[in-house]
Amino acid sequence: MKQRIFSGMRPTGRLHIGNYLGALKNWAQLQDEFDCVYCVVDIHALTSIEDTSNLGALTHEMVLDIMAGGVDPEKSILFVQSKVSEVAELNTFLSMVTPLSWLLRVPTFKEKAKLQPHNVNYGLVGYPVLMTADILLYKAGVVPVGQDQMPHLELAREIVRRFNAQFGPTFPEPEGRLTRFPVVMGLDGGKMSKQAGNVIELALSREETAKKIMSAVTDPGRKFRSDPGNPEICNVYRLHEYFNPREAAEINRECRKAGIGCVDCKKKLAESINQELEPIRERRRELEQSPDYVKEVLETGAEKARVIARSTMEEVRQRLKLI
Ligand code: SF4
Repeated sequence: MKQRIFSGMRPTGRLHIGNYLGALKNWAQLQDEFDCVYCVVDIHALTSIEDTSNLGALTHEMVLDIMAGGVDPEKSILFVQSKVSEVAELNTFLSMVTPLSWLLRVPTFKEKAKLQPHNVNYGLVGYPVLMTADILLYKAGVVPVGQDQMPHLELAREIVRRFNAQFGPTFPEPEGRLTRFPVVMGLDGGKMSKQAGNVIELALSREETAKKIMSAVTDPGRKFRSDPGNPEICNVYRLHEYFNPREAAEINRECRKAGIGCVDCKKKLAESINQELEPIRERRRELEQSPDYVKEVLETGAEKARVIARSTMEEVRQRLKLI
């Protein structure tokens, strides 16, 4: 029997190549090895957004990218978090065994509280408990995570140990599986993120993608074409390593002796990225034309998820001696 994996993404709309390299590509690859449960975590989004008028559209856009990027509903369960209400129930029960002090020390809570000082809500503090509920509801043994999410996973493991010690062995301790490309840098050299406005979305056209890449920051020390460059501090080079691994070593050598200029180097990168993303864009266009199919995939996914969730909650209620 395959081990089960759970992973979720917050509905931020269209995915970009940072999401693709950091999560989505991995999601697609894991499907043959694991029993995968993938989710768009729209309840988590409520901890940060106050205006939800766009939430449905953002969720839909993300689902299109997830499916176009290779998550196959025949192999994996794909659904939207809020469609399985058992997660809220488990979140409540887990919150009873989670000391507040554990939550207050989580680094991401402190960062988020600084970002939204006017809205430091109860749900924001409890974010890691809801994340734990997501994982445990499906009894996932493995969770693919970025380096920055490791403290959340460690907390999830602590919650499992405490629950199991108090009420009897119920949940497996989930193992973190670090993604191969944990941090992808954006066009400006900072971490790629929508807020920073430095992203390349998967759904952009070939021309839009090329234009974005041509605007990317390179080695700031290389002022003229004849200057040797340093690929180690160049974000374009890092993207070559991801999208053009076969040529990366040669680009590295050529850059160091000014054998290649940044314009040509960027053109090569645009070509490689476009080559990899073209099938994804094509699938996305097909899915955009088939809203009923996408809806059906999510409904079927939620139904399959509910079957697992109901069984877990039955066991949890028995453990808690609720009648
Ligand atoms: Fe970066 Fe390529 Fe320019 Fe070297 S040649 S600095 S790797 S863009």
